[in-house]
Amino acid sequence: MIPYGRQNISEQDIQAVIDVLRSDFLTQGQCVPEFERRLAGYCGAGYGIAVNSATSALHLACLALGLSEGMRLWTSPVTFVASANCALYCQAAVDFVDVDPSTYNIDVKCLKNKLEKAKAKGCLPDVLVAVHMAGLSCDMKVIYELSLKYGFRIIEDASHAVGGRYLSEPVGSCRYSDITIFSFHPVKIVTTAEGGMAMTNDAELAHKMALLRSHGITREPALMTSEPDGAWYYQQIELGFNYRMTELQAALGLSQLERLDAFVMQRQQIADRYDALLAGLPVFRPGRSLISESAWHLYVIRLDSAKTAVSRKNVFDYMRSKGVGVNVHYIPVHTQPYYQALGFRMGAYPEAEACYEGIISLPLFPDLTESQQDYVVEVLQEALVL
Ligand SMILES: *Cc1c(COP(=O)(O)O)cnc(C)c1O
Repeated sequence: MIPYGRQNISEQDIQAVIDVLRSDFLTQGQCVPEFERRLAGYCGAGYGIAVNSATSALHLACLALGLSEGMRLWTSPVTFVASANCALYCQAAVDFVDVDPSTYNIDVKCLKNKLEKAKAKGCLPDVLVAVHMAGLSCDMKVIYELSLKYGFRIIEDASHAVGGRYLSEPVGSCRYSDITIFSFHPVKIVTTAEGGMAMTNDAELAHKMALLRSHGITREPALMTSEPDGAWYYQQIELGFNYRMTELQAALGLSQLERLDAFVMQRQQIADRYDALLAGLPVFRPGRSLISESAWHLYVIRLDSAKTAVSRKNVFDYMRSKGVGVNVHYIPVHTQPYYQALGFRMGAYPEAEACYEGIISLPLFPDLTESQQDYVVEVLQEALVL
């Protein structure tokens, strides 16, 4: 099966992990802070807080922004469930804003309308999670301007978008947000097996996230309520978690970062080639943007129901039967049973639901060969005339 996504692991990556295994520290050594410095430097952000997953990074980001019971977080329904679940971890409420059908990113016009209505009803959001779907940044400048007008904070869920750019700057610079989070799951752009990082320019938010990542425990005398009893002393000053990244993961991440730009370039070339090969087929290709350069985590096509009667299910099943590991990103979050039980209704986000009916993610990863790609397109063509 040609998978839809796959990590690229070099001999240097393997050696980097082995070197850590032979060293004194498997956790809490020098690789994690080095990985944080390196990625923050790449993004042009002040701070990076490495954690054990992007889900943990989202949780810490929400906590650092003070999200709690009685508060509200808005996000896109076309995302992985983690973008919304982070609000529920904090006992806050979730709501969704429908998407732009060409990019599957949050629709800024819908956002404006919903904010205006929420303002009239006194239920404005406290935090917005902007998801950079498939690696293409949302229009963050416009969202930032809305945040100033309506008084909400911004987290960028850039799980798909490390290595992407917005207005010529790296995603993760946090120029138009409070915090940006990345995922290093193996299907994402660079991997640490499991792992994530939160980027920010705000020293206080960085400090808060670092504290909560490790049990809310500090060894800094300046933060303690009393003089330390001795050199062994630490104090727990908040209720935190163990969300730490290991040295093995950070060593892998550091080694992978050296190829980040190359990975994104390879992904872009594959996406460009799909665009050319799919011209003329009854499918919509991924929307492009003049102001964002995608990191191309996913290549999502959508069946054009005006031009083909074949169902997504038939195309999907046929392609899988021929060894092409297509996937679907995403089942809209509000349609999940857990969210239905919270009161979300079908029909609430029509664009998200309509997209879902027709979308398929084609295989896209740096090592996908041209002949594999030709095969994917050939099988897709066969599926479309069934
Ligand atoms: C993968 C993903 C996450 C979660 O990442 P983990 O590192 O697996 O926790 C969150 N949001 C989006 C949009 C993702 O694609």
